Amino acid sequence: MKQKVIVIGGGIIGTSVAYYLSKKDVEVTLFEAKDIAAGTTSSCDRAIMLQSKKPGPTLELALQSAKMYTTLELELEADLEYQKGGGMILIENEHELNVMTEMVKQQNQAGLNVSIINGGHAREINPLLSKNIIASTWWSEDAEINPMSTAFAFVKAAQRRNAKIKLNDEVQALLIEKNRVVGIKANKENYYADNIVVCTGVWTKKVLETIEIDVPIIPRKGEILVTERLPRVLDCNILSGSYIAAKLQKGNDNPYGIGLAIGQTKSGSLLIGGSREFVGFDHSTNSKVIREIAKRAIQVFPFLKHVHLIRTFSGFRPFTPDNLPILSEVPEVAGLFIAAGHEGDGIALAPITGKLMAEMICEQKTDFEMKPFSIERFTKNNC
Ligand SMILES: Cc1cc2nc3c(=O)[nH]c(=O)nc-3n(C[C@H](O)[C@H](O)[C@H](O)COP(=O)(O)OP(=O)(O)OC[C@H]3O[C@@H](n4cnc5c(N)ncnc54)[C@H](O)[C@@H]3O)c2cc1C
Repeated sequence: MKQKVIVIGGGIIGTSVAYYLSKKDVEVTLFEAKDIAAGTTSSCDRAIMLQSKKPGPTLELALQSAKMYTTLELELEADLEYQKGGGMILIENEHELNVMTEMVKQQNQAGLNVSIINGGHAREINPLLSKNIIASTWWSEDAEINPMSTAFAFVKAAQRRNAKIKLNDEVQALLIEKNRVVGIKANKENYYADNIVVCTGVWTKKVLETIEIDVPIIPRKGEILVTERLPRVLDCNILSGSYIAAKLQKGNDNPYGIGLAIGQTKSGSLLIGGSREFVGFDHSTNSKVIREIAKRAIQVFPFLKHVHLIRTFSGFRPFTPDNLPILSEVPEVAGLFIAAGHEGDGIALAPITGKLMAEMICEQKTDFEMKPFSIERFTKNNC
C-alpha cells in the first residue's frame, strides 16, 4: 500500500510541498479552504532576491531554491514569468553605505557575488533613478516570478502525477490517536492519511490550536501600491536600505516599517511596496502608509510623480519571532509536519521548502541541516 499524505493549504508553500511529494511514490491530497493562492500568495511581491537575506540558514536555503527556479518552468511545463534581471539595494546616505558595505562583506563570504557600485553606475543600469542615490548594491543573479502562476503550475504538475486537489474544503480538525496524527476532518467528513503537512501560512496557529500545539506565527501586514501599465522601465528588483532595516525590525523611527521594494510585472504595472506592521488580521489599507510609500518611491524615482496609481492592497506575511520558517515534524504528534512562517521570503523559498519536506516525510532525512527550522526552538525548554 502506498503511503498517504494530506497537505493542508494551497498557497505557494502547500502547492510546492504537494508537487515534490507527488514525485515520490506516495498518494497526495491537498485541502484548501478557498482556492489555490487565495491567501498571502496572491497579495505579495514577486522577488526571488537573495541580497535581502541575512547570511545564515535562510540565505543557504534561498541559494538552493534560486538554483531550482532556473529550471522550474521546464520542469513544470509552465510560464512562470521567470526573469533574472538582477537586483539593487539603493543607498542614500553615508550611514546606509556603511551598513550595506558590512552586509555585502558577509554575503560575499556566504557565496553571493554582490558588489557595491557608485551612483553613476546605478543610473547606467536604471537611468530613471534619482541623482540623490549615492551608491547601490548590485547582483545580476536576483530574479522574479509570478507567485500565483507558480502555485497553479505546482498544482497542475502534481495532478499530472495523480495528486488530488480539494478546493473550498476547510480543514476543521486534526484527528489524533495515541500521540499520532491519523487524518483530518473537513466538511464533516474524516479523511485518513499516514502523514499530514500543515502549510497554512498565517493561519497555522489556528489550525494547530485545535490540538493545543502553540505555533508562534503571526500576521505581519504589508501594503503595496499598483501603478497603471507602463512601458518597460525596470528590469531588476529594487529595494531601499530602509527595507532591510524594517525587515530586521531595526530602528523605531519607522512606525509603519516602511522600506521600498519596487518591481515591474509582465503586464507593465509597477508594484511599489511596502510596509511591515503587526495589526492582527486587519486587511484594510491605510492612506497614511500609502502616501508615505508613494513619497519615498518618488524620492528615488522622480518620474513616478507623473504616474497614476490604480489600486492598493495588503497581504499578511507569516512572521516568526526569529524570522526563520518552521520546517519541522511536531515532536509530540508523530506523522504531523509544519511548513509555514516564511515571512517575506516564501516565494523565494518555495521550491526548496517543497523538496525538503518531501524528503523529510518520505525518506526521514535530508541533505540540509534542518535544526534551525525545527518547531522545538520555540518550545519551553529552549526559551
Ligand atoms: C506585501 C508582501 C510582499 C511580499 N513579497 C515577497 C517577495 O517579493 N518575495 C518573497 O519571497 N516573498 C514575499 N512575500 C512573502 C510571501 O508572499 C509569503 O511568505 C508566502 O506567500 C507564504 O505562502 P504560504 O503558502 O505559506 O501561505 P498562503 O499563501 O497564505 O497559503 C496558505 C493557504 O492555506 C489556506 N488555509 C488556511 N487555513 C486552512 C484550513 N483550515 N484548511 C485548508 N486550507 C487552509 C489559505 O486559504 C491559504 O490559501 C511577501 C508578502 C507580503 C505580504
